[in-house]
Amino acid sequence: MDSEQYPSRMFLRFADTFTPQNRPELTLMSGGEVMLRPRLVRDIAERARAVGSRSYALSGLFFARKPRIPGPIREAVDALDHFSVSTDRFHEEEVDRAAVFRVLHELLDDGKDVSVQITGEGPDDPYLADVTAAVRREFGDRVPMLVVPLVPMGRAREWMERRPLVAYPPTAAPCSLACWPVIGFNGQVIACGNQDVMDGTVPMPPHLFLGHIARDDWETVRQRVTGSPILQAIRTYGPEYLMERFAGERTCEGYCASCWKAAKTPGLRESVKELVLLPSAVAMREAVEQMAADAGPVGFARRWGIGRYADLVTLGAPRERDLACTG
Ligand code: SF4
Repeated sequence: MDSEQYPSRMFLRFADTFTPQNRPELTLMSGGEVMLRPRLVRDIAERARAVGSRSYALSGLFFARKPRIPGPIREAVDALDHFSVSTDRFHEEEVDRAAVFRVLHELLDDGKDVSVQITGEGPDDPYLADVTAAVRREFGDRVPMLVVPLVPMGRAREWMERRPLVAYPPTAAPCSLACWPVIGFNGQVIACGNQDVMDGTVPMPPHLFLGHIARDDWETVRQRVTGSPILQAIRTYGPEYLMERFAGERTCEGYCASCWKAAKTPGLRESVKELVLLPSAVAMREAVEQMAADAGPVGFARRWGIGRYADLVTLGAPRERDLACTG
């Protein structure tokens, strides 16, 4: 969303196609840096709220060195249901921890729902132990944290080593990210937020391409993501299992690389189409969706984040006992 080449009106026209009947549960905005276009963030958040969708934005807080949050940015934050701050050890060299904490205090004091998303190099990264402890010391249990691993994508692609993967028998490992349509800065919509696909580093796998917001409305995108047999199968079984079952291939290229390859594998789309119509596959899909829902935010953080820190996502949430007491 941070390119002036793509005007705000294209994003707003698309948000205008949300309705109370088909709205996304959550409208998430991230960058680049979304707060470079605060009015657009505010306008999208207001449109989302008008139809009952909750909104969330992730920012690196480039403005945190100022004594107060600048007016237009504060208006954008106020329009959101949730505001999350992204940081990591490289980012702290640009926007220091004290400045991040000051912004969080300002927002918390005004009753804003906030969280921190922290990226680190794995469970043993000392930076993660240090920063998560610092957030707890500063805010107690008020600020949830999602701790995610750094991966060799985006800017980290240039320096982070891609470790060779070992071949192992593929098991079903559903991809619960294949149901979050993501709009790129250029208006292109893809079925998940995979950075390599978003950046065009890998050729666009046709099954991940859902359209363009200059041409397609939300209902069309929604139908494509829910109705696509191959996306349904990726959400239920995961890409590696599909490649082994229908292409006889055990790939050691990686989870998402198997997904990209699936698109180019002759006959796979047709076989998957038949599979997803089987009553057993329908039952399996429902069971997998239920399991993901039952696992809740901690299950999500354990699967996609760094497991050791998964429980931190529930900080700040009302405890069951508190809910019972308030009736
Ligand atoms: S497996 Fe496919 S759908 Fe899932 S995150 Fe990777 S590229 Fe996206």
